[in-house]
This record gives sequence, C-alpha cells and structure tokens, in this order.
Amino acid sequence: MKYLPEFTPSDLLGAQAHYLIAWAVLITAVVVCVTAMIRCNTLWLHRWLSLGWLSDVLFTRDIKQKKIGLRYMVGVVNCTTGLVALNYGASVGVIDPDGCRQLTWAAVLIMGTFYGLLRTGWNRKLANPSMSEAQMAAAIGFLGWGYLIGGPGAPVALMLLFIILMFGMFTATSRQLIRSSVLAGIVFATVFLMTAMRESAAPITVQLQMVYGGVLVIMLVSVCLLVNEMARLRARLTQRKSDLTAALAQIKELAIRDELTGLFNRRHMVSVLNAEGQRTDRSQGRFCLGLIDVDHFKKINDEWGHGTGDEVLRSLSNVIAAGLRETDVVARWGGEEFLVLFTETDCEDATVVIERIRLMLSNTVVSSNLPELRVTFSAGMTTYQVDESIVATIERADQALYQAKATGRNRTERHTFCDGDYLA
Ligand code: GH3
Ligand code: MG
Ligand code: MG
Repeated sequence: MKYLPEFTPSDLLGAQAHYLIAWAVLITAVVVCVTAMIRCNTLWLHRWLSLGWLSDVLFTRDIKQKKIGLRYMVGVVNCTTGLVALNYGASVGVIDPDGCRQLTWAAVLIMGTFYGLLRTGWNRKLANPSMSEAQMAAAIGFLGWGYLIGGPGAPVALMLLFIILMFGMFTATSRQLIRSSVLAGIVFATVFLMTAMRESAAPITVQLQMVYGGVLVIMLVSVCLLVNEMARLRARLTQRKSDLTAALAQIKELAIRDELTGLFNRRHMVSVLNAEGQRTDRSQGRFCLGLIDVDHFKKINDEWGHGTGDEVLRSLSNVIAAGLRETDVVARWGGEEFLVLFTETDCEDATVVIERIRLMLSNTVVSSNLPELRVTFSAGMTTYQVDESIVATIERADQALYQAKATGRNRTERHTFCDGDYLA
C-alpha cells in the first residue's frame, strides 16, 4: 500500500508540527538521559553535563521524583523512537499519515499526562507513585496500535516491546511485569490476528503473523523465566541486606558493651561523657559522676575463685542498673570499678541514689553458691564544672573514692568541691 502525500498547506503544517515535536522530544530526552548517566571528574563540566538545573526544573528538587522522572524519560525516548519511525514512514508514503498523526498526538497527550502527574506531584497520591505499570500498559497499547498501522516497519514494535519489558525488569515488581507481559500477549495476539485477517490476500502475510506470534511467545516466556530469576535474586539480596543490617547492629552493640556484665564499656562511656560535657557547657546545665569500687574484691577472688568473683561483678552490675533512673548511664570502668553518670542531677541527690544502691547491695545474694556472701562498695562523688575536661571530673571522683576507702570503706564520699560544698 502506498499513501501519496496529498497535503493541503494547513495539513502540511500540522504534519510538520507533530513531526518537529517528536524530534524535539526525542533529542531532549536523549540529551537528558545520556548526560544524567555521565560521571565526569571535572566538576564544572560534570555540573553542566549532568544538567542538574534542568532536572530540577523538569522534575523538581525532590530526589525520589527525579528518579521516577529519569525512568519516565527512558520511556519517553522509547516511545518517541517509535513515533519518529512511524512519522518517517508516513513522510515517505508507506504509512497512513492520518493514522500516524492520530497515534502521535495520542502518545504525546498520554506522555504529557504522565509528565503532568509527575511534575505536580499528584503521582505521590497513587498506590504506585512511579506509575511504571501504567506507563508500560500505555506503551504496550501504543506499540500494538503502531504495529497495526506500521506497514513494513511493524516489527519495530516488537523490538520496542522487548526493550520495554527488559527495562521493566529493573523498574517494576515481578507481579507488575507478569501483568504487563499478559497484557502484551493479549494486545499483540489481537493485532497479529487483525493484520492476518486484514491482509489475508497478500502473500505470506498470514505466515509472517504466525512467525511473529511465535517470536512473541518466546519473548514472553523468556521474560517470565527472567522475572522468576530476578525475583529469586532480589529475595536473596533482601535477605543478605537484612542479615548484614542485623550483624552490623550486633557488632555495634558488642563494640560498646562489656562482655562480662553487659554494661557499657569504658570506651563508650568516655564518648558519652564527652558529649554530655559539651551539652552541659552549652546549656549551662549540670551532671554528677559517681565512681564505685568493690571493697576487698581481691579477697573474694582469692577465697572463692575467679568464677565467683565474676558472678559477684554481674550481680553488682544488676543491682546498680536496677537502682538508677533511665536517664542515668552506668559503665564498667575497670576490673571492679563502675562509673555512673547522673544527668541533670546535683551531687546531693546523686549521693542519695548511690547510698540507696549500697543498702540494696547489703541485702542482695551476689553468688548463688554462696548465699551468705555479701559484698560492699565504696563510692566517690563529684559534680562536673562547666568548661573543665572530663578527665578532671573523673580525677575528682577518684579522689573522693580514695577518701571513702581511707575512712573505712562501705561508704559514699563527696569530693570537697561538690556543688560548691567544701567537705573538710
Ligand atoms: P579495695 O577495697 O582497696 O578496693 O581492695 P580490692 O581488693 O578490691 O582492690 P584491688 O584493686 O587490689 O583488687 C581488684 C581485684 O579485682 C584485682 C583483680 O584480680 C580483680 N579483678 C579485676 N577484674 C576482674 C574480673 O573481671 N573478674 C574477676 N573475678 N576479678 C577481677
Ligand atoms: Mg579497684
Ligand atoms: Mg576494690
């Protein structure tokens, strides 16, 4: 069939207009896609080539919208390629120009609608904001239509369909892709049938449609197999990711915990104290430190063994942790030493808490094998002074602890410089 171009001047203008639009959209889309993918080391060149300002204008500054926009542009390139091929066919007289014009305007309208949804952000209100399935369905519909009017270039529609389905593997879910494949099967089976019936008189047309049908079946079966494989890979990746996330969380937890007692370790406590010091400097707030040391712990080890010593340390940790508020932080500072941070607390109130814990300990069974065994501790308290180093604060708590040991143990001592009090 040969369509002679019998255009009036206005027809010609219309034909030229959609032909020009098709080319303009194609060139713009290709430029945006290629340049967005380019990774250039030269900063200013990269900035210009990546056309960040253009994607800002086209798809707003929202990163998610830009990502959807880039996929949309790939679809636009695909669609426009088909339109250019059709329009070329129409311009050389092998394709019905009216059908070509109708299809072109319909495609531009649909592409524009998708762009409108994207640019206004309405797509966010949809169940699937990427609109990938809807875009694939529209593209499949246009390809079927293009096949019907495509004349000798009709098989191009099959190639473009293959590209769409391949691209869908990375952008759509397995279910969406299967649904799109079924749709493609129905649409193309229909157009093959229509073409065979329409041109049954032409030589080998029916056979050709059957061959295309066979190609379509192979294509769709391959897509389904690949989708299955992709789903398996995705599931494996998701599982690995969650395993890694869990392992990372465990490693992070292990890095800040003391193995024996489960309390925070010294390294973590130092960073907590530094952060609290900075916060207090800024807010002119306050906090207090209590350093706890078990009395005559060496004797426990010597008399009952290290196993019992460890058990005592675990029991003591539980008693201390149970006696503190949620906002207080306790760490195992050394062998049988524990450091407590009392946030937003003055020395007097913190001392009351430590004394309560000391009394609780005197009634606590610290070793299951030795129910009669009791341990005591001594503690030194001090208050953080704004703009001083944490080391200086700890040093003062240590001095107070030394005083508690020197004055008989099993007691709590406040540093002479505590809340402005000076203990003699
Ligand atoms: P004082 O009342 O003066 O504090 O006497 P002390 O015996 O508690 O003091 P010292 O610092 O001499 O003893 C601490 C002991 O704690 C020595 C060390 O063997 C023991 N120790 C340190 N870490 C651990 C541990 O993880 N498990 C056990 N079982 N013992 C530990
Ligand atoms: Mg000690
Ligand atoms: Mg001790």
